[in-house]
Amino acid sequence: MQTDVVIIGAGPAGMFAALELAEKSNLKIVIIDMGRDINERRCPATTITGVCEKCNPCSQMSGVGGAGTLSSGLLNLRPDIGGNLEELTNSSELSWDLVRHVDDAFVRYGAPQNVYTADDEQVRDLARKAAASGIRFVPIPQRHMGTDNTPRVIANFKEDLMKKGVKLLIKRKVTQLEQGKLKLEDGSDISCNYILAAPGRIGAAWLAEQVRKLNIPIKHGPIDIGVRVEVPAIVMDPVIEVNYDPKFHIYSKTYDDFVRTFCTNARGFVVQEVYDSTIGVNGHAMLSKKSENTNFAFLVRVNLTEPIEDTTAYGQSLAAITTTLGGGKPLLQRLGDLKQWRRSTWGRIRRSNVKPTLLHVTPGDIAMAFPHRIVTDILEGLDKLDNVVPGVASSSTLLYAPEIKFYANMIQVDQKLETPVSNLFVAGDGAGLSGGIVTAAATGIIAARGILNKEGIEAKISS
Ligand SMILES: Cc1cc2nc3c(=O)[nH]c(=O)nc-3n(C[C@H](O)[C@H](O)[C@H](O)COP(=O)(O)OP(=O)(O)OC[C@H]3O[C@@H](n4cnc5c(N)ncnc54)[C@H](O)[C@@H]3O)c2cc1C
Repeated sequence: MQTDVVIIGAGPAGMFAALELAEKSNLKIVIIDMGRDINERRCPATTITGVCEKCNPCSQMSGVGGAGTLSSGLLNLRPDIGGNLEELTNSSELSWDLVRHVDDAFVRYGAPQNVYTADDEQVRDLARKAAASGIRFVPIPQRHMGTDNTPRVIANFKEDLMKKGVKLLIKRKVTQLEQGKLKLEDGSDISCNYILAAPGRIGAAWLAEQVRKLNIPIKHGPIDIGVRVEVPAIVMDPVIEVNYDPKFHIYSKTYDDFVRTFCTNARGFVVQEVYDSTIGVNGHAMLSKKSENTNFAFLVRVNLTEPIEDTTAYGQSLAAITTTLGGGKPLLQRLGDLKQWRRSTWGRIRRSNVKPTLLHVTPGDIAMAFPHRIVTDILEGLDKLDNVVPGVASSSTLLYAPEIKFYANMIQVDQKLETPVSNLFVAGDGAGLSGGIVTAAATGIIAARGILNKEGIEAKISS
């Protein structure tokens, strides 16, 4: 097959890149995705126990719409959440334009009109309270597409791309990248003028391997290591009224490390994630079933410099120690026990007024698994946060470990998101450029504009 542009990945980065190219040029565009079509995507994971019956490729992570299509589809409408578009474009104005552009398209395809924003007074009050304790509260306008609605939005998006002449090859895996040429798993080849690789987190390791073969420089980025915190819902309700998923940025007292809240699930459940040889935790909230607790991730940013830069290997080794200590299950500890440097037991947890929503755990001692520096960051961070959210650092607060967020390696690109290999562009989470739907989509648009510029079609990329 011969075409003008091949896009690898039908996630937000790939779909928005295709839209931009189709609307502004006559280029022949093909999107290839190894996952299923939108109406065939099902995740058989039993959500409460979090035990994943693996499907191949994982329907949660791959297929038309990309990762997260089967979840709540929360659009964070800020250029500095889930990446940093301002840094990429070198322009605050352009980065906000990109966010609005992506948001408008989602609304056009059926995302709800409503945006969650607290009135200014409430936001100011919370920001003031946080600032008084040295914490930054990051207010984020958020559009919630909803678990039931997101697949419909993606189906409309896909249909529009088809009408605009974009060709979609699904259940086809790209195995090899070369300049102007791709090899597929079924042995076929595609030749093209431009390649845009946007394979997401699920394709990040494969992309890293391909770019290394092409001698494109690539480096490790930071990772986030921490715990999932669970408190009675009434403790978090006042801040959740102000922001659906409140983000607090904190610097710890002893180490001056960056600690943050992430992925709050009001009246939700903590779930176990199963990897190849380790376990982890996460959280989710359902529309149909509510718990009496609210959970959120509390994460410490870890960046390593020479001689060891491989943050992924470091994170995996901590996950392995925690898995060993938990006997194959996540560790659960009361904050009060961690503060007293003693393990939790089922007896102590039962006496606590917070009932865990995940029972497939081992009561234990997180200080035996995580380095002192990370434990100190978590303890100091929660104490600070308690000034803004009273009750969050109560001795009965529950901590589940490990919650580790790995990110893709960062591939060297220029401002057009073109790699040193001419006409090979990258975008989205798989290239280490984003970490959310809106930012991934925006990087897809930037790369598409890079291609348009090379074709002599004017499209703004940077200031
Ligand atoms: C459960 C879950 C919930 C989430 N919820 C939210 C949320 O509410 N809000 C938010 O902002 N973000 C959320 N995210 C993150 C968000 O989904 C991602 O940041 C975003 O989808 C990244 O977009 P992308 O286009 O870079 O890659 P992806 O969306 O990951 O898409 C990449 C695509 O490439 C395909 N692919 C990979 N390798 C190959 C290959 N070799 N050949 C062919 N195809 C390939 C994959 O099948 C996949 O469909 C969530 C993620 C998950 C997993």
